[in-house]
Amino acid sequence: MNRKLTSEDAVIVGGGVIGLSIAWQLAKEGWKVTILERDDIGQGTSWAGAGILPPANFSAASDPIDRLRGLSHKLFPTWSSELKATTGLDPGLRRCGGWYLAESLGELASLVGMADYWAHLDIESERLPMRELVKHEPALSSWAKQKTSIGAWWVPDEYQLCPPLYLRCLQTACEEAGVLIRTQCELEGVRAQSDMTCVRFDGRWHDCSRVVLCGGAWLNQFTEPLGLSHSVIPVRGQMLLLKTVTPISRRIINLGNRYLVCREDGHILIGSCEEEVGYQLGTTDEMISELRSFANSLIPALADAEHKRSWSGLRPMTYDGFPMIGRVPGTNNAYVAGGHFRSGLHLSTGTASVLCDLMVKREPVIDLDAFRVGKQISHRQTHLE
Ligand SMILES: Cc1cc2nc3c(=O)[nH]c(=O)nc-3n(C[C@H](O)[C@H](O)[C@H](O)COP(=O)(O)OP(=O)(O)OC[C@H]3O[C@@H](n4cnc5c(N)ncnc54)[C@H](O)[C@@H]3O)c2cc1C
Repeated sequence: MNRKLTSEDAVIVGGGVIGLSIAWQLAKEGWKVTILERDDIGQGTSWAGAGILPPANFSAASDPIDRLRGLSHKLFPTWSSELKATTGLDPGLRRCGGWYLAESLGELASLVGMADYWAHLDIESERLPMRELVKHEPALSSWAKQKTSIGAWWVPDEYQLCPPLYLRCLQTACEEAGVLIRTQCELEGVRAQSDMTCVRFDGRWHDCSRVVLCGGAWLNQFTEPLGLSHSVIPVRGQMLLLKTVTPISRRIINLGNRYLVCREDGHILIGSCEEEVGYQLGTTDEMISELRSFANSLIPALADAEHKRSWSGLRPMTYDGFPMIGRVPGTNNAYVAGGHFRSGLHLSTGTASVLCDLMVKREPVIDLDAFRVGKQISHRQTHLE
C-alpha cells in the first residue's frame, strides 16, 4: 500500500492478534488506520499461543470476564466466516470439543467445580465413565486403564484456532480494508500533549487522531509517559509440536494446567508452563522433556511421534488478572488494549468489538469498568509497594 500516515489516522501499536483485530474493526467503520509493528506482523505471543477457545456463553454470563469471554466466543464463528469470505483463506477455527481429565483428587475436585460453573452458565458438559471415554476417544484407552485416571468430562463447545493461519487472515483482511501496515517500525515514544497524543517513530514525532497501545507483554516499555509503566508482567510459556503420520485425535485434551491440541493433519501441540523469567524467550531441555513425558503418559503412541519444533512466548499478565481495555485516564485520544494473559487469542474478538464501540462513541455491549485502564496499576501499588 502506498498510502502515507496522516494526522487523521488511528495508530495501532503492535501487530499481534489484539492490534490486528482492532485495526480490522476500525477500518470497517471507515477509519484510516495504521499499524506500527517493530518486527513482522503476528510473530509475537499471538503466534506462539495454543489457540484453545474454551466454552463460554454470553447470554448466561454476569461476571465481567465471563461476559467478555462469552461475547468473544459468540463472535468467533461470525468473524471466521467473514475472514474466510473476504480473504479466501482458512482462518483455522474448528469446533473440535475438549476432554477434561483428572488424575488426582485435587484435579477431580477442580473439575467438579468446573462442571458446576459450566452448568451455571448453561454450557453443555458430560461426565463419562472410562469405558465410554475409550469408545469416543480410542487414543486415551491406555490412559483410561490406569488406576490414577479418575475422571473425564466431555465439553463439546470448545474450539481450536490455528494462530499462524488466523493471524495471516487478519493481516490480509486489514490490508484489503485499507489498513497501512508498517513492519520493522518500532514505536520509540508516546507523549500526551493537551488533547493530542503523539507517537514517535522513524526518529520523529507524528500527530495522529487516536493511538491504541497493543504491545502485549512489552506494553510497559513505552507507556511510562502515560503513567502505565508497571502495567504488565511477562510470563513465559513453552510449547512443543509433534507430528504423527495419521491423526491420533482431533480434540483438545486438558489435564490440570497442561493440554494437547490435536490438529486434523496429525500435528499435536503440547503445552505449557508459567515461568517468570522477565523478557527472556527460549525453551529449556528440562521443560520440553516434561511436556514430552506428559504427552506420552496420556497417549503412549506419541513416543514415536516426530518432534517438529519447540518455542516459547511471553504472556502479558496484569496485577489484577483483568485485561486493560479503554481510554488512558487524562488523555482524549490514547487507548490501551492488552494484558490478556492466557486468553488473548480467545478474548481478541470481544476486545476489538467493545474498544471499537468505545472509540466510535457507541455504547459497548458489556460494562467495561472491570477492565478500565489504570485499575491494574492501583492494585500493584496497594499490594506490592
Ligand atoms: C505458550 C502460550 C500458549 C497460549 N495459549 C493460548 C490459548 O490457547 N488461548 C488463548 O486465548 N491465548 C493463549 N495464549 C495467550 C495469548 O497468546 C496472548 O494473550 C495474546 O497473544 C496476546 O496478544 P497481543 O496482541 O496482546 O500480544 P502480541 O501477540 O505479543 O503482540 C504485541 C505486538 O507488539 C509488538 N511491539 C511491542 N513493542 C513494540 C514497539 N515498541 N513498537 C512496535 N511494536 C511493538 C510486538 O512485536 C508484538 O508483535 C498463550 C500464550 C502462550 C505464550
